[in-house]
Amino acid sequence: MVFKLIAATGTLFGVLTWVPVEVSAEQASLAEESVDGLLPTLKGAVGKPGAPNLPPLEQDFSPPEDLKALKRISYKIRSGDTLGNLFVRYGVSLQERKLWLQAIQKHLPLGAFRPGKEVQLYLTRVSSPKAKEQLKAVEVEQNEDSILTWEKGTKGIVFSKREKPYDVALKTAGSVVETTLVEDGARVGLNQTVLSQLADLFSWEIDFDREIQKGDTFKVLYEDRSRKGSKNTPSLKILAAELVSAGQRYFAMYFEKEKGKGDYYDLNGRTLARAFLRFPLEFTNISSTFSHSRFHPILKVDRPHYGVDFAARLGTPVRVVADGKILFAGWRKGGYGRMIEVEHESPYSSRYAHLQRVAKGIRSGSPVKKGQIIGYVGSSGRSTGSHLHFEIYQNREYIDPLNFESPAEHQIEPALLKVFENRKQLFTAELAATPAS
Ligand SMILES: [Zn+2]
Repeated sequence: MVFKLIAATGTLFGVLTWVPVEVSAEQASLAEESVDGLLPTLKGAVGKPGAPNLPPLEQDFSPPEDLKALKRISYKIRSGDTLGNLFVRYGVSLQERKLWLQAIQKHLPLGAFRPGKEVQLYLTRVSSPKAKEQLKAVEVEQNEDSILTWEKGTKGIVFSKREKPYDVALKTAGSVVETTLVEDGARVGLNQTVLSQLADLFSWEIDFDREIQKGDTFKVLYEDRSRKGSKNTPSLKILAAELVSAGQRYFAMYFEKEKGKGDYYDLNGRTLARAFLRFPLEFTNISSTFSHSRFHPILKVDRPHYGVDFAARLGTPVRVVADGKILFAGWRKGGYGRMIEVEHESPYSSRYAHLQRVAKGIRSGSPVKKGQIIGYVGSSGRSTGSHLHFEIYQNREYIDPLNFESPAEHQIEPALLKVFENRKQLFTAELAATPAS
């Protein structure tokens, strides 16, 4: 049946052939699980021995009845339709109609039943023409992401909400740096989101003051999750990446120790994630990267001054660099213009100035999560052009954000090493097979 299956297909640029696989929604409703579903195929493709020893998959839901055996009627709601008259049309008895309507109205949000939306009715198949079809299940599309289902079982009509299935594709791409990471990434088909993730991954490993050289290479393996027919942008996530710069090789790989709790690790099983993001803007939004072969994001104005200026277009989203609490959000006298100040875990705090506007819901006292968008780049206050002025304080003393070393790193636990190593083998083999074109 449609909503129980996830069609996982992939395109691998490069030499590998790809075999589409299907895994059930019970196994693939979450990011990590869908990857697990695909890994055996990857393994086959690269010819690595040893199946990944992955933890058992949790079952999120299992429908009380297999709807596959039922007759399905898809109906597109027209104006003037009601569920009641739809049931009449398909021969549901008065008594049954009451039961269904009662059960459905309890959970059906206002506006969910409206013209243009699809309703699925599942009826028993009958062997003889005299037997009567029974309504067994009703599905209403709630939005692009979820489906509401009512199913009749031995305990009456049971309601459930299901995520629509994803299409999960694993993709690889690689390139030699000819001009800039952004331009060369785009040339080999990498989306800005992936490039930005790539930069964030290695931002603490590589000296960003130094230029990325022509001839350096990068490769990524990433997951592309989307829903058929959905207008929402697909969700893209790097699973493994490699960057070779000045002969030095940097590697990052996504690994979940627990369902939904993933981190990036290097080859030695040390986490790459820090408490702080290196930059408050997405790498791909920093102006200097749009031209010239430079990683260096700094706009050299007004020095010496306390802060780093990032040139960026008006309205570029500003990310808070670490978890914390908003201390101040609004207009600040003395040149800052519209400014946000955030308190992080002691002894750190950070400031973001000259903003065009503060993001919705951001006010003094709001808790924020690393990477959350708190405002938008502007030119308010004493500012000569659209840019973000960024400051970090340690014990109330200004420190240079570019020489700041974010604390914290941890090692993968010994108990997880085998699983980690297996996955690492798959990912490194996959990257090794990806040409840097
Ligand atoms: Zn400044």
